[in-house]
Amino acid sequence: MSIATNIEKSNKLNPSTSAVGGATGLEALELGAARIRVDDKKIINCHADLNQLVPFKYEWAWDKYLTACANHWMPTEINMSADVALWKSTDGLTPDERMIIERNLGFFSTADSLVANNLVLAVYRHITNPECRQYLLRQAFEEALHTHAYQYVIESLGMDESRIFNMYREVPSVSKKAAWALPYTQSLGDPNFYTGTFESNQRLLKDLIAFYVVFEGIFFYVGFTQVLSLGRRNKMVGTAEQFQYILRDESMHLNFGIDVINQIKIENPELWTASFQKEMIAIIRDGVDLEYQYAVDTMPRGILGLNAQMFREYLEYVANRRCAQIGLAEQYPGVTNPFPWMSEMIDLKKEKNFFETRVTEYQTGGTLSWED
Ligand code: FE
Repeated sequence: MSIATNIEKSNKLNPSTSAVGGATGLEALELGAARIRVDDKKIINCHADLNQLVPFKYEWAWDKYLTACANHWMPTEINMSADVALWKSTDGLTPDERMIIERNLGFFSTADSLVANNLVLAVYRHITNPECRQYLLRQAFEEALHTHAYQYVIESLGMDESRIFNMYREVPSVSKKAAWALPYTQSLGDPNFYTGTFESNQRLLKDLIAFYVVFEGIFFYVGFTQVLSLGRRNKMVGTAEQFQYILRDESMHLNFGIDVINQIKIENPELWTASFQKEMIAIIRDGVDLEYQYAVDTMPRGILGLNAQMFREYLEYVANRRCAQIGLAEQYPGVTNPFPWMSEMIDLKKEKNFFETRVTEYQTGGTLSWED
């Protein structure tokens, strides 16, 4: 009997394990059974062996994994000394600029951790494909690097760590976005939640859209733009450089998430009902409103040639792109991008060669020793 048949049999015996019977990759092995063919692979609800990476079916996931590895960086490689001097000086930054830095560190320091928890405790279990899981493992590490980057900035600048890390509980404009995202992941993280029914498959798709399209795809963009804009004016250049590398990673996370969402739609077209689309549009519009409020709250007076109205337009422009990327109608006709330089920031190669400023050679096996 093949592994797949074993799993199907056990699913029939226990409906609660339906469709994720094979999702752990830890099912009992049977010699000579279940050599994987491309056609056996499915993005969700796959009953075939999940430990066989090849033959590839979803080359786009493997390509993103390779690109992400090629983009490897560490927060500690970035020189923070100019930021430390500026932060400690009495006249280098206005109170509004300081607030922007603190609020964004407050939001991001816990937001990337929230994304990481959603990935490893909820999403990973339900995406039943080895190529995609390979990328998810890389993404999870990148989320750890991002949290590390924020911690490194906070520590370098000598900020009150617990005040910054608690902002998502204590500062309304920061906490609203985190509070918005959490319910989407709660049922998926429930060990008794399984995909395999129409409702539960839709539930997963909704979580993916909330996290990849809205949380990582909209909620990060006001903060990124604010901090990168400071960097463009030669202020907090180390922090801005950290954010640049994070933004490059995040744009890959977003593109991967969009590919996953579209693949689920291709394989399960029945999920994409008119009412579900309407619900997704409402979620995205809601995200734009919340992020606009964040822009208003973090820069009530406008700074650096930026004002909240420009962010409204930018968010609508970004949301139009997100809608188009997952096959929804654009919601904000005629808006243009007030920050065209952000598109160049996403592709770092246009800005500068990362390796020119790289200070650390990665140790390959440098800590290995052989026992006699
Ligand atoms: Fe991310």
